[in-house]
Amino acid sequence: MYIVSACLLGENVKYNGGNNLTGPVVEFLKDKEYITVCPETAGGLPIPRVPSERLKDRVIARDGKDVTEEFRSGARRCFDEVLKRVDLKDVEGAILKAKSPSCGSGMIYDGSFSGVTVPGDGVFTELLKSKGIRVMTELDF
Ligand code: SF4
Repeated sequence: MYIVSACLLGENVKYNGGNNLTGPVVEFLKDKEYITVCPETAGGLPIPRVPSERLKDRVIARDGKDVTEEFRSGARRCFDEVLKRVDLKDVEGAILKAKSPSCGSGMIYDGSFSGVTVPGDGVFTELLKSKGIRVMTELDF
């Protein structure tokens, strides 16, 4: 069982109302079981929404609003939802959207809204890694 960012499979949950449909991820998953998640909308943020980026241990929207709690509660809700459906030991890995403040792995946007990335993980990715789950991004396919 894989955990997958919903936007990578074409769900229109991105901040701008669009998606990040990625053919190689769709192809990889076609004979596998998976659960789609969108931690930002699970945390109560709307579609569309003001984009946000991580800044140290907070998450700040481009309009200056602190949305850390929405990001954290969305991450927890998605993880709880996964655990309702599958044992942790049966999660083979997660395929999440690169660079996102929720889903990015290894490199994320730096909080300046200028497209610059820095080493780090999104809020949801951090939670999954703390549970021992291997996280990949669409850039691995
Ligand atoms: Fe995609 Fe994750 Fe952002 Fe949702 S929170 S739109 S799944 S990158």
